[in-house]
Amino acid sequence: MSLNSHIEWTDATWNPVRGCVKISPGCKHCYAETFAERFRGVKGHPYEQGFDLRLVPEKLTEPFLWRSAKLVFVNSMSDLFHEGVPDEYIEMVCRVMVTANWHTFQVLTKRSARMKELLRGRLRFAAEQEHIWWGVSVEDRKHGLPRIHHLRAIPARVRFLSIEPLLEDIGRFDLSGISWTIVGGESGPGARPMREEWAISIRNQCAAARVPFFFKQWGGVRKKRAGRLLQGRTHDEYPERKSAPIPERAKCSDHAQEILDSLPNTLSIPLVQFTA
Ligand code: SF4
Repeated sequence: MSLNSHIEWTDATWNPVRGCVKISPGCKHCYAETFAERFRGVKGHPYEQGFDLRLVPEKLTEPFLWRSAKLVFVNSMSDLFHEGVPDEYIEMVCRVMVTANWHTFQVLTKRSARMKELLRGRLRFAAEQEHIWWGVSVEDRKHGLPRIHHLRAIPARVRFLSIEPLLEDIGRFDLSGISWTIVGGESGPGARPMREEWAISIRNQCAAARVPFFFKQWGGVRKKRAGRLLQGRTHDEYPERKSAPIPERAKCSDHAQEILDSLPNTLSIPLVQFTA
């Protein structure tokens, strides 16, 4: 888990899965791939295997270690619903999130069909939690709008859209059942430009539908210089957060042990230390 994430709309990241495979145009300049591949072959580094997909069960219980309530972006370096991640493992991740209900978890996917299927079935217990926000990425109409459709069919309390990198005018779209919208442009070498009117159109539709709107960044090659003002001001709205009090350290340790005890033998790992 990484505290103090540089991602504007979260506090921390938690990666019980690492690596992914590109699936749509929004993945073209995937920052996670660029980062991970930098360390391929570096002995002992968490990304020694580059961006190859793998489970990281030793990270599963990390949310129980944090002593303050965080907004946690789940799998910032992967996609939880990638077809290579077994249902059983996704269920373990969900059980951690449901138990660690003093945090607020943000789960974002491009594999919305699988997310829908699981959250309407065996993972329904996690779908309906107020402290778990379920989201889909939207980069254009062709790939993004069907994902919004899937998201709306999930029995979630909080559904959100990450419209980033915004690659075209997505026009008018249905915001019913959506609790939060993030918009951002692509950053880094070769970044594809985002036009102001595309972002304004989404912001205005959110305002009309009373959906909290977060403008993340313009992006571009020099993203700091481009900043994050839209028509002269920042937009930093969030949905209402509802989370439980943080239990005593010993209780958190018990929770972690329960999770580890229920892991299949093939994934068995030692308990992380809960130091004072
Ligand atoms: S789905 Fe996300 S993590 Fe996976 S390749 Fe695409 S942008 Fe990267």
